[in-house]
Amino acid sequence: MTLIPGDGVGPEVIGAAIKVIEAAGADIEWDRQSAGASALKRFGTPVPDALIDSLRRTHVALKGPLETRSGEGYRSINVYLRKTFDLYANLRPTLSFAGVHVPFRNVDLIVVRENTEDLYSGIEHTVAPGVVESIKVITARASRRIARFAFEYARRHRRKSLTAIHKANIMKLSDGLFIRCARAIARDYPEIKYREQIVDAACMRLVTEPGSFDVLLLENLYGDIVSDLCAGLVGGLGLVPGANYGDKGAIFEAVHGTAPDIAGKGVANPVAAILSGAMMLDYVGHPRAAASIRTATGAVLRSGRVLTRDIGGKASTEEMTAAIIRAMERG
Ligand code: ATP
Repeated sequence: MTLIPGDGVGPEVIGAAIKVIEAAGADIEWDRQSAGASALKRFGTPVPDALIDSLRRTHVALKGPLETRSGEGYRSINVYLRKTFDLYANLRPTLSFAGVHVPFRNVDLIVVRENTEDLYSGIEHTVAPGVVESIKVITARASRRIARFAFEYARRHRRKSLTAIHKANIMKLSDGLFIRCARAIARDYPEIKYREQIVDAACMRLVTEPGSFDVLLLENLYGDIVSDLCAGLVGGLGLVPGANYGDKGAIFEAVHGTAPDIAGKGVANPVAAILSGAMMLDYVGHPRAAASIRTATGAVLRSGRVLTRDIGGKASTEEMTAAIIRAMERG
């Protein structure tokens, strides 16, 4: 498996995830690769050839966040990797944990985000001085493929409903195509209740009545924004794992970014990275190890004794990781 510790808090939380995966008894051989700002410093490029070669060989990676500066410099490496390996489906399961104090209990949302197009197409140009255009690309192929992925997930996991989130009242062509594709795929899944909701209304409802949603299907940009909103509902970015799936491989990574404000301080919450590791274990055929990681993580959060600062505690990354490993050993 390729291991990309990444930038900012990446090495701290990925280090924690590796320890927990080892303690769960999964025998994983890691091929450690650098990317992002750390690779730029060492090798003069944010995406070294060795990284791409490793991903072509392993098809699976556990990855920390990578730094992409806003409004300047190289294009997002995350976007580059997702496009290069056609990792078209971004899955972000957002679950509330007893022990983490938030206004809602029992939040259980699955965010499915299209990962390859939309305003992330990277097509931007200056029309005239002071006038720029960013092109939003939506295709029927990518829209059908992500809708199929979301409905298949919903069916496999016995989820009850799926809401396609859009702004087709304004973007009649692009978002109109996206929801028409979702609607067509929905017909093959009569057991799953299919709904549509405009993105602004959906945001309001998510923060007042999150229990009324189940699986959410979104284009790339809405998916990015709404998944952070959903993370807020359960206690923040430190808790939400993620995966980018394609037909031939997958990259597992937390929803959060490099968190430069806390990087290097040993206080980052390792849970998002650890749970991303559990998703990876499921994918590579270690479901028992994955389940024991989830159970132990849930137990530590529930007991509320060893929590990092972002979720109301005082523990360090290392202390929380050790508590999860102890909980796993207790079984
Ligand atoms: P980037 O540009 O890499 O996305 P960012 O700071 O804009 O970085 P995040 O890294 O996602 O975005 O961080 C947003 C906020 O959430 C920050 O205040 C950060 O400290 C906090 N945060 C993110 N991840 C964690 C974590 N694992 N543990 C604790 N706090 C976190």
